[in-house]
Amino acid sequence: EGFFCANIHKLLTVLSSEVEFMLNKIESEQFSQMIITALNTASECVVITDEDFKILYANENALKMSGYSGEELIGKDYTTCLQSTYNKALKELIYNTLKKGNIFSGHIVYNMKNGDIKRFHSIITPVKTGDETSFYVIVCRDTEKEDFLKRELEKLQHYDSITGLHSKLSLEKNIELFVNAEPRKKSKGALAIISPSHLSDVNKVFGLEAGNKILKQIAQRIKSCTREYDIAARIESENFAIFMKNVARDKAISIMQRLMSRLTEPYTAGKSTITLSFNIGVSLYPQDGSDAKTLLDRANAAMLDAKQMGENTVGLFEKHIHERSIKEWHIKTAIKNAVDKGEFVLYYQPYVDRKVMIAGAESLLRWEKNGKMIPPAEFIPHLENMDIITDVEYRNFETITKELKELSSTMAIPISTNFCHRTISRDDLLQQITSRVKEYLAGKKLVGIEIVERSFIENLTRIKRLINELKEVGVFVSIDDFGTGYSSLSYLAQLPADYLKIDISFIRDIVKAKHVQSIVRSIIFLAKEINMKTIAEGVETKEQFEMLKEMGCDYFQGYLFFKPMPEKAFKEVLRASSKKVYSIKNE
Ligand code: C2E
Ligand code: CA
Repeated sequence: EGFFCANIHKLLTVLSSEVEFMLNKIESEQFSQMIITALNTASECVVITDEDFKILYANENALKMSGYSGEELIGKDYTTCLQSTYNKALKELIYNTLKKGNIFSGHIVYNMKNGDIKRFHSIITPVKTGDETSFYVIVCRDTEKEDFLKRELEKLQHYDSITGLHSKLSLEKNIELFVNAEPRKKSKGALAIISPSHLSDVNKVFGLEAGNKILKQIAQRIKSCTREYDIAARIESENFAIFMKNVARDKAISIMQRLMSRLTEPYTAGKSTITLSFNIGVSLYPQDGSDAKTLLDRANAAMLDAKQMGENTVGLFEKHIHERSIKEWHIKTAIKNAVDKGEFVLYYQPYVDRKVMIAGAESLLRWEKNGKMIPPAEFIPHLENMDIITDVEYRNFETITKELKELSSTMAIPISTNFCHRTISRDDLLQQITSRVKEYLAGKKLVGIEIVERSFIENLTRIKRLINELKEVGVFVSIDDFGTGYSSLSYLAQLPADYLKIDISFIRDIVKAKHVQSIVRSIIFLAKEINMKTIAEGVETKEQFEMLKEMGCDYFQGYLFFKPMPEKAFKEVLRASSKKVYSIKNE
């Protein structure tokens, strides 16, 4: 013990030139105590030997690792701890390095007390007194675990565990490599971001396992459409990317169009087949950016822009897209504020039956901004891309249920409100509706929702169940804008909906276009077959009204009868209508 402390003191004296300013401040006794504490809490093994490699000190970790006690290790020859079959050359190299006063740093294999051998990364530093080496400080680190963790971490960082594609990090590194290699050789490249829509719905409906299966299929399709040396990656939970090397604009577009048609083929998940929609955004190197981050940002902007254009579209980054997304951001901020300030109000548009009696009404959203009415066309498309639309629509639903509760029984008519696809996809939809119906309108089938075709095309089974559940709680369902999307009469027959709203575009052309007449006639015919009432949207002229009536249409909504109006006017209309039959305007 006395010997050991004396040696430590000797060592400290040697080091003192470098730590003088500290030693001046701290008592040397206290300082050596601190050093020992530091050495014993270090995760490395620290061993100090004299000039003949006789061990003078070993920290607690060195004892723990080697299995020797302090008594056993102190006084032992350090070199006998090296593994006997240990490479002689390396032993010599260690000696030679150290003899010249240089630091050795490298891996050394040691014997443990229990006979095991273990590899440590070791740094051996000779400490001199004057010209002579009088001590060696050996610091060893167990890197086995570290190496393993590092390798695993690298794998995780570079590859996506589900699809086996590159990670975002790896994609970025590869882009940087490509961009920085041979900058003089005019290479080109294209980065595409591939974004499936509603993939999270697949997870919700079919479970995570099915979701992962689909992710794998998407990954395979992406790989099958690109070349071996292109970098395919999964960059966020849902989005994919591909960096195509040595590809110019037109080629990139044609590859992405081919990929798009592959991606939109059906996927299998368990027993079901699912079709997904995608959007792809492309940025080009070097014109759109010359580093990974910029290329990713711009491909993303192009992808979001493609989303605006519609499903299954490919978009290129162009400057104006960038500006457009800034504008989009401004509008979205304004919309958020409007929701907070309660600037959204409901208008009502009554519709009439064949005798021109008010038969029901649709509520329509308006944005009342600084005394000005902003029409839905200017903000609904943006709002539909925001989560808050669901809050807005639940609130609309609440407003019409309250409204109906307040109306006296002689004035009460069915009122419906529009639910966008985002809201229809929500898991809490039924519960949200039920709680409001129970609170305000128990039992009466007066309140309804209008849903667009897209909402049931994507998941027919769920929508069928939902409509039935809504019926049970006394909520009716209308199919909105029918005929604009997939015109899927075959789907329609499977839906237990109450009303079918024939899209305004048919009504507009009905008087002049013969083929439109036959389409509308067959829609009305089919609706009757499956017990759905038909509502014609946007009836503006008497000719349209007469023709639709002749075809057997049940209800008529349009400027010919009523324009959408604020709540107050709507109530007045209802009050008056409970007394008399409405006459058609301009008559
Ligand atoms: P929509 O559901 O098809 O609503 C009918 C639209 O046709 C309304 O336009 C209405 O004012 C208009 N309209 C009614 N009769 C006539 C007519 O005779 N001629 C013409 N040219 N138009 C007529 P509005 O109020 O501008 O709404 C436009 C669209 O905005 C709605 O189309 C609906 O898709 C959407 N919208 C309105 N409120 C909401 C809402 O609360 N949620 C969602 N998701 N969408 C809404
Ligand atoms: Ca509607």
